[in-house]
Amino acid sequence: MKFQRLRLSGFKSFVDSTELRIERGLTGVVGPNGCGKSNLLEAIRWTMGESSARSLRGGGMEDVIFAGTTARPARDFAEVTLTLDNRARTAPVGLNEDDVLEVTRRIERGAGSAYRMNGRDVRAKDVGLLFADAATGAHSPALVSQGRIGAVIAAKPAERRAMLEEAAGIAGLHVRRKDAEQKLRATEANLARLDDLMQQME
Ligand code: ATP
Repeated sequence: MKFQRLRLSGFKSFVDSTELRIERGLTGVVGPNGCGKSNLLEAIRWTMGESSARSLRGGGMEDVIFAGTTARPARDFAEVTLTLDNRARTAPVGLNEDDVLEVTRRIERGAGSAYRMNGRDVRAKDVGLLFADAATGAHSPALVSQGRIGAVIAAKPAERRAMLEEAAGIAGLHVRRKDAEQKLRATEANLARLDDLMQQME
């Protein structure tokens, strides 16, 4: 799945609406210290469903919202949109008509965050599955942030396995297996209840 564009508004240091085109091939971000390079990578990971504030270098999820400076007041929301190439029609059913798929995540102070795909409200889980299946999830080895190489070397075997599963595009299978197991347990409970009722009627 190819990324085409990143649009940010109120995300960390990107207080004004900012748009970046992502060209084919390897993308590197260069600039002076503190200019927001890591914030860009974090914006991509956040939009793909990152749920750990710590891994976004914050204490809480609302820390991704522009906190204000001496010159500018804080913002009430942050919004990031990632535009993906959908010419191969890899988007979920119902969102597959267009050549592009826009995934948006928005957070408002005191109101939590919400996701949209091509303007339609979706669950965090839908976004997570989309990227997990495409092997480009929020923890994908394709996104190399600072300290990541060291983290891979120091990772425990279970953590390395998770990275390999993410790279292989099978991370979404775990979510689906958990869902299937839950449904199976609920069905077994229903069957047991039905047995009880039938015995009472006999
Ligand atoms: P380096 O090269 O030193 O790693 P960098 O280019 O990766 O730097 P970032 O770490 O992405 O820079 O950005 C850091 C800047 O973002 C800091 O100036 C910090 O004050 C600012 N920043 C982070 N979170 C917020 C926020 N919520 N509101 C406003 N500014 C923020």
